[in-house]
Amino acid sequence: MSRKKISQPDMKILWGRSGSKCAICKTDLIQEKKEGSGYPIGEMAHIEDENPTSTRYNHEMMDDERNKYDNLILLCPKCHTIIDKDYQEYTVEKLKQMKKDHEKWVEESLKKHMPNITFAELEVIIKHLMGIPTLENGDYVTIVPPKEKIEKNDLSPEVENYITIGMLKVKQVRDYLNKNPDIHFAERLRAGFVNKYRELRKEGLEGDALFYALLDFASNSSPDFKYMTAGLSVLTYFFELCEVFEE
Ligand SMILES: [Zn+2]
Ligand SMILES: [Zn+2]
Repeated sequence: MSRKKISQPDMKILWGRSGSKCAICKTDLIQEKKEGSGYPIGEMAHIEDENPTSTRYNHEMMDDERNKYDNLILLCPKCHTIIDKDYQEYTVEKLKQMKKDHEKWVEESLKKHMPNITFAELEVIIKHLMGIPTLENGDYVTIVPPKEKIEKNDLSPEVENYITIGMLKVKQVRDYLNKNPDIHFAERLRAGFVNKYRELRKEGLEGDALFYALLDFASNSSPDFKYMTAGLSVLTYFFELCEVFEE
């Protein structure tokens, strides 16, 4: 059977909105390693199936459409097997609803965890970000209302909600950076972030896919809400400073 590939932007959006967790059982889909970043163990399952013998197969759907974010649900291998064996229970409508509920749950969880972020979580996240190479040096910083930037960059209401949650801790990120005795610390962090942003743009990512790719980077691909929220606050900090995304 010919399997068309799922594009990088669709992957980024799916993994980002799913919080790297199974939409059914909520298992973390990043396997941690002793050293270095973890690796993905999730499966991007088709809602309208790619298998023509499935009752979830839609003959009218083109392969391209079938492999889009809208038709995918992120699952662990076990739940993927279950939905493909039990078509009666896991209908197209049911899977769409589960995906929607799951993404809402991820957003709510970020909102719930955000107030608990302290310097400790920021330290872990920022330490990781400091380990990355930097190239570029300081151009100046302007502040543009996030609202305008969201429109300009064609970001969805879902991403806007994430940014609104991230705003809750922007001040704490600033305080954290200000208290560092090394005056170049914030500058190095910024340069690393901007580098990554440019790298991802060069790969052709934009809009929501770019946002989720940066969030993944900022939180070191952690499926832990604690670090996801810390990463989100750092990303929002740079978003607000206009270091990333177009003004
Ligand atoms: Zn599962
Ligand atoms: Zn499948």
